[in-house]
Amino acid sequence: SKLWQARFFRTANHLRDLPRLNVPEIAFVGRSNAGKSSAINTLCNQKNLAYASRTPGRTQHINFFSIGGAHVAQHRHDPVDENKVELFLVDLPGYGYAQISGTAKEHWQKLLSDYLITRPQLSGLILVMDSRHPFQPLDVSLLEWFAVTGKPIHCLLTKADKLNRRESSEALKQVDTILRSYIDENGHPFPFSAQLFSSTKRTGLKEATAFILNLAGQ
Ligand code: GDP
Repeated sequence: SKLWQARFFRTANHLRDLPRLNVPEIAFVGRSNAGKSSAINTLCNQKNLAYASRTPGRTQHINFFSIGGAHVAQHRHDPVDENKVELFLVDLPGYGYAQISGTAKEHWQKLLSDYLITRPQLSGLILVMDSRHPFQPLDVSLLEWFAVTGKPIHCLLTKADKLNRRESSEALKQVDTILRSYIDENGHPFPFSAQLFSSTKRTGLKEATAFILNLAGQ
């Protein structure tokens, strides 16, 4: 898949650090421990792409992975040709960190909401939720305030390998029903969708990849 070309591009801790390229961005967001890093690594077929940036102190930052402008076969540290970047996968800070408090928390909440609401390059959101307990309060509030952008949200229901066939199809059905219940003032549904995903079993990989590339116009 094209996503296998993914390379670490940049960490941003302030809006001014965001890449100044006019290429589509697909952002991954979710509660910490939902399986976001594993999903990014699985989609990009790399063991440490998203974990590498999860070292303490960098969890609150926005990490950009570029697709295009470098080849997997090249040395990891060769610079990416910025003019040839075709899309960015964006790893947003996981929410629900109890240990972060005060100004640090306020800083990243503002960075996260500013990015999500005002970023023109942002094409859509991948909302990562554990298939066993989707729609935790923070997921719901994120979904509701991002909806105003009119941009798509695709839910990855992770760790689907922990559910049997009946349970997982039931989980997907329930999530679809909830997503369809969101309608705008004209009675139209929001561009929300969902699928099952497992990083360990690699299920849902094709569907998620197709969604991302399609959203990015690739
Ligand atoms: P993040 O905090 O959202 O980035 O979550 P991680 O990707 O670090 O995953 C959190 C925990 O869930 C880790 O122990 C992973 O090994 C585990 N995990 C992630 N994805 C899966 C999956 O698809 N299946 C199973 N069984 N475990 C998973």
